[in-house]
Amino acid sequence: MIVVMRPEATQEQVDHLCQLVREMGLKDHVIHGTDLTVVAVIGDDRKKDGSKLENVPGVNRVMKVLEPYKMASRTTTGGKRSIVKISETCAFGGKQIPVIAGPCSVEGEKQILEAAQAVKDAGAHALRGGAFKPRTNPYAFQGHGEAGLKMLAAAREATGLPIVTEVLTPSDVEMVSRYADCLQIGTRNAQNYKLLEACGNQPKPVLLKRGMAMTLDEYLQATEYILAEGNDKVILCERGIRTFEDHTRNTLSLSAVPELHDRSHLPIIIDPSHGTGHARMVPSMSRAAIAAGCDGLAIEVHPDPEHAMTDGAQSITPAALAELMTSLHRVAEAVDRTCLSLAVVGSRE
Ligand code: PEP
Ligand code: MN
Repeated sequence: MIVVMRPEATQEQVDHLCQLVREMGLKDHVIHGTDLTVVAVIGDDRKKDGSKLENVPGVNRVMKVLEPYKMASRTTTGGKRSIVKISETCAFGGKQIPVIAGPCSVEGEKQILEAAQAVKDAGAHALRGGAFKPRTNPYAFQGHGEAGLKMLAAAREATGLPIVTEVLTPSDVEMVSRYADCLQIGTRNAQNYKLLEACGNQPKPVLLKRGMAMTLDEYLQATEYILAEGNDKVILCERGIRTFEDHTRNTLSLSAVPELHDRSHLPIIIDPSHGTGHARMVPSMSRAAIAAGCDGLAIEVHPDPEHAMTDGAQSITPAALAELMTSLHRVAEAVDRTCLSLAVVGSRE
């Protein structure tokens, strides 16, 4: 932290500031410049509230130097990227760019089995599907709950695909963790701190979606809640944010990929379905995401989008996914990655 004093600050005010810094358990180092005096505060101040120093007489500004998140920060790994595996053949953050595909909701056993087989045949690496659905409208379909989790488990049994599914509340974490290979925390819950902690206290990887009104700084601090509980298997997911723009459901921030890679060692995937809200935009945004360096994709795929119970407008068909995979492979190769299975390419760990 750097404290910039006012031009008219007196020596007594500088001394008083330094005294307060020492009371916080930190060291002070006063630098007298030609125009201004600044106090460099030395020590790990991430757990200290430095903003209160702004109120001290003679102080102009307080500037944080260390990021407020420690375990999520790339400095923690010495710049190395982390690889998060959700199964033996599906790893995020390495050479492979896995595609998580499946319907928005688990609607029934036949639907999820058909979807699972179809996305597997198209070349997807993991199956998605919500058993617990966060719905804006309380009267809308809320998901089949544990029955839906059982259907997902049956689909995994039938296809071998690992399953990614959302958990809405801390009291369901243990149950969802028993069925899922990866727990999803949705955009609406991205700052539900008790849910983040509960997911940090179970062993399965966590896919944490960016809150729709979250800055990247807030996003990584939310991630820190999971990591600080001891679960280091976190996958970040940009799924679009709220802006004034209304030609898409959300504004997909692809520049979050290089920025999050700079700030954090964790893998970052893109959800072009919620990010645009339109099936016709999913192929181009998926290719763009891979070109931008993402570590995976989460795509809504429904065997019959016209009759989907949720998010039909943004769901592509299995045939569209199969076609898309071909061009994703080509874009991935152009940036030295691959969308093939780990069983084919081997691990880069
Ligand atoms: C979902 O993945 O089905 C979902 C509800 O996503 P989000 O939380 O990004 O809206
Ligand atoms: Mn959805």
